[in-house]
Amino acid sequence: MTEPTTTDAGIPVESDEHSLTVGPDGPILLQDSYLIEQMAQFNRERVPERQPHAKGSGAFGRFEVTGDVTAYTKAAVFQPGTKTDLLVRFSTVAGERGSPDTWRDPRGFAVKFYTSEGNYDLVGNNTPVFFVRDPLKFQHFIRSQKRRADNNLRDHDMQWDFWTLSPESAHQVTWLMGDRGIPRTWRHMNGYSSHTFMWVNAAGERFWVKYHFKTDQGVECFTQDEADQMASADTDYHTRDLYEAIERGDHPSWTLKVQVMPFDDAKTYRFNPFDLTKVWPHGDHPLIDVGRMTLDRNPTDHHTEIEQAAFEPGNLVPGIGASPDKMLLGRLFSYPDAHRYRIGANYRQLPVNAPVAPVHSYSKDGAMRYTKVTDPVYAPNSKGGPRADVARYGQPAGWHTDGDLVRTAYTLREDDDDFGQAGTMVREVLDDDQRARLADNVVGHLLNGVSEPVLTRAFEYWRNVDKDLGDRIEAGVRAKQDEKDPKAAGQANPARSSMQRKA
Ligand code: NDP
Repeated sequence: MTEPTTTDAGIPVESDEHSLTVGPDGPILLQDSYLIEQMAQFNRERVPERQPHAKGSGAFGRFEVTGDVTAYTKAAVFQPGTKTDLLVRFSTVAGERGSPDTWRDPRGFAVKFYTSEGNYDLVGNNTPVFFVRDPLKFQHFIRSQKRRADNNLRDHDMQWDFWTLSPESAHQVTWLMGDRGIPRTWRHMNGYSSHTFMWVNAAGERFWVKYHFKTDQGVECFTQDEADQMASADTDYHTRDLYEAIERGDHPSWTLKVQVMPFDDAKTYRFNPFDLTKVWPHGDHPLIDVGRMTLDRNPTDHHTEIEQAAFEPGNLVPGIGASPDKMLLGRLFSYPDAHRYRIGANYRQLPVNAPVAPVHSYSKDGAMRYTKVTDPVYAPNSKGGPRADVARYGQPAGWHTDGDLVRTAYTLREDDDDFGQAGTMVREVLDDDQRARLADNVVGHLLNGVSEPVLTRAFEYWRNVDKDLGDRIEAGVRAKQDEKDPKAAGQANPARSSMQRKA
């Protein structure tokens, strides 16, 4: 039998269709509480969208440990044979909530493990590196990727202006402009912690770790043309693909592998291993199997299970800690701050964010709290309140640090440079066809509104990544400009004229 409609207070309503009026044609009455509830509730349906990573979706599943990493971590979630329920949210970065899934952009790859020792969140991307290495630049980077103040349009000139003035972005931009800059689906992309984390084993020994979720579906990508077509044919293509795959029982999975660096090696490694713009070459630190993540359950209410899902890199469980990666340390603050603003002070009580592990905290009151607080409400106390188990959990996963207060870049080491690993990718990982598509993608992007002096800086940026690639990109852009304006050929830009003279 169909349930009768009620108000939010559970009171049966008189009509689903008609407001309360004075006569059939008469004015509407303020005493129609149900009408007012419907209008007021509707006006409040949206919470502020994420800034960034606004467009996304996800699914529930589980992680099963198949390897043995007990030598490196005591974390309950990674003990052999352990199965842990989890939630994953995939997203684009710069687009708004209704933007196309297939824009060229990194993808968020956020995992919340509901472990027996509290929630563990790994808030990664589908790329192992990032555009900047200092959290002070993050806000500026995101603004450059979103919309201008004056006309509210996205602007490639603004993007390249920021990138070319931030050479540390070169590795990530090379990745982004290459084939993997547009995944075919979320199921067909890898996920990475990007950051380095600390693992601590049962004996208290410390290790540095990077996570790699390798897709079991195989990596597949869209070309720019395919993605452009899909952006208009199905704006929500990635969302739909994941949902439909899970509905038909085709459950996507990823194999989690880690790279492990002994704690003391970080001090003398040839580049700063905590620099988020760099990978650890596999030759130095091979991948070690941990287990498998499978997604097998769709959300049934996008708002309560995905839009209000709150991932935070500070949710680190015993056996796992942060590292001196400045970007990670900045994110430890910014994520929970965003959740308090978007969702409210008690966002962790929402079912999707609540741990399966019991909560015995001293947090109290605040807007929308519904789990009851019991006395005593302070610590220390002699009234039977919870007490930190110092013997078991007393030592933080940390490192020694000392120095003057400064505002400066990381100390440079032998192999610390902005372009080296990007160049390695271009020359040693990509084949001729992939290099050609990379060059075409950059040419197309630059021709879409990038002006001098940013354009000339962009050619130099790419020459720093790889001389041939930079020359090819400049030649590609100039050829297209000449097609459009043959009279101006050779006159517009002194740098270009000198290149032509040399040729
Ligand atoms: P490897 O040859 O051991 O690894 C190369 C890596 O590149 C593989 O992980 C591969 O992923 C990935 N890859 C392949 N095609 C692309 C592409 N179009 N865009 C992005 N990544 C791609 O080399 P190294 O570990 O010595 O690293 C060499 C370079 O490879 C690095 O400078 C970096 O640019 C890139 N890279 C390195 C990673 C790392 O963690 N070491 C991770 C990803 C990229 P898969 O095996 O899944 O195909």
